[in-house]
Amino acid sequence: MAGIYIHIPFCKQKCHYCNFYTTGSLKYRKDFVRAIKLEVRSRKNYLKPNKITTVYFGGGTPSMLSVNELNDIMGVIYEVYDVVPGSEITLESNPDDINYEYLNDLKKNSPINRLSIGIQSFFDDDLEYLHRVHDSRGAKKSIENSLKAGFKNITIDLIYGIPTLTNDKWVKNINLFFDYNLPHLSSYSLTVEKKTALDVLIRNQKLANIDEKQSIEHFNTLIELTENRSYVNYEISNFAKRGYYSKHNSIYWLGGHYIGLGPSAHSYNGVSRQWNVMNMKKYCENDPAHIIAEKEVLSKNQMYNEYVLTSLRTSWGSDTEHILNMFGADYSNHFIRTILPFIENGKIAQKGSVYKLTTSGKLFADGIASSLFFGF
Ligand code: SF4
Repeated sequence: MAGIYIHIPFCKQKCHYCNFYTTGSLKYRKDFVRAIKLEVRSRKNYLKPNKITTVYFGGGTPSMLSVNELNDIMGVIYEVYDVVPGSEITLESNPDDINYEYLNDLKKNSPINRLSIGIQSFFDDDLEYLHRVHDSRGAKKSIENSLKAGFKNITIDLIYGIPTLTNDKWVKNINLFFDYNLPHLSSYSLTVEKKTALDVLIRNQKLANIDEKQSIEHFNTLIELTENRSYVNYEISNFAKRGYYSKHNSIYWLGGHYIGLGPSAHSYNGVSRQWNVMNMKKYCENDPAHIIAEKEVLSKNQMYNEYVLTSLRTSWGSDTEHILNMFGADYSNHFIRTILPFIENGKIAQKGSVYKLTTSGKLFADGIASSLFFGF
């Protein structure tokens, strides 16, 4: 299985916490769609074999593109790749873009079969803190319109740990998600990335800082409430009803191959990882010599470390048999030796050759994984 990621970098305004490559200008819109189609063709041999099971329009705000523009890009993808029937084709969207007419057109006239809606919170003060462009009314309306248009495979994003988000409001946000009976939720702790507006505003005391203790409380509430409703926490930040796991993101977590198209997108083909240039003008020039900004061939240590980092975050866990087969005895012995203290302190549970984070371990996932790294 392999996936295609397409980065659509347009955003109406920059959210305070965002460190993705985005642009507020639509000056290059037409050139950009043309450049994406050229990149699909020019890199057609990047993935081998060429069978595609997922296409993901991410961003940025892909829902700023018209249905015609999305279809135009998909047409070239179908032409160049063997897209398996029933593939998951996701559109990330922001509530303010997706009115009923747009969604109805999308459902009837495009191959998009999964929507990811950036709700973040159903409360206006949280949305203002985050500097989102939509309000709570728009958030609810976007879900209602998506359901009315006939979309079933819908996921929403909710952010916790926002200083304005009390525990009571957080429970209400989760309950609203349940009320809509949606099959999938992605939920992330608010983090302050360096050089974002949020970072500057907090340092200048213009916005309240994040309280780690509150974020942990929110996470524990999220785990408890979703478990009660039989959502599977199949990756630390992702919760789904059975049959609705994100196939695209599972490719990343399970070490599958993917091609990333568009400015700043990255690709992985099992041997090397590469990043496209983070510059719209340069990207639109579409000179292959300038599209790739960086490329690295992964060493065995890096591949092992990535496997541990991603697999440990999932409900499938890390498997020592897989490590032995893929990397050899030095690596599996190292894994078994270094993970032992985390079994003893209750952060990891072991069943046969598979090791998984316990609920208390999930809060320390990245720290635990880095303790298991090889070559550090
Ligand atoms: S909508 Fe998404 S990509 Fe755009 S600025 Fe906000 S967080 Fe970043």
